[in-house]
Amino acid sequence: MRARRGTLLRERAARLSADGPTASGADSPGIRLRGHHLLCLLSFSGDGYSPEFVERFRSLADSYREPGLVVRVLASPDDACAACPHLDAGGCASPMDGPEADVAALDAAVLDALGIAPGPHLAHDLHRLVAALSEGTLHRLCRACSWYGRTDCQRTVREAAARLTVPRTG
Ligand code: SF4
Repeated sequence: MRARRGTLLRERAARLSADGPTASGADSPGIRLRGHHLLCLLSFSGDGYSPEFVERFRSLADSYREPGLVVRVLASPDDACAACPHLDAGGCASPMDGPEADVAALDAAVLDALGIAPGPHLAHDLHRLVAALSEGTLHRLCRACSWYGRTDCQRTVREAAARLTVPRTG
């Protein structure tokens, strides 16, 4: 049953990847994020795979806080992966979190949990959907990640998303 679900997620990831853009277009402002990074950016602790990657992830995390930002959601390598030393021609080759098929399957699972399709979304809408995820769902999605447990994602992701959905004053 579990193997069948993994196969279905991989097939869905392949379809999403084929549907999604593969490069930033000059006519599409905003950032490109793969599904699971919609969660990771909310619990970024300042650690990462290289100084260049940390700088990129911090910049993306700052941008992602802007409610009106357009996020082009993918199930394939994104603007964070572009600065990652584990990215190769076939996608993610991380010894901890890869290969690409597994990461794309996780992206697809996150999109399923959020109830969205790949393509452009407002950051505010994404924050609202993430804030509504249960701790159990976050645990299911995140438990296999090499960073899970270091950053208490089950709690910090939801809390950060909830804070971002509160209207700003002043
Ligand atoms: S480890 Fe893989 S999924 Fe994560 S940023 Fe690097 S290339 Fe992308």
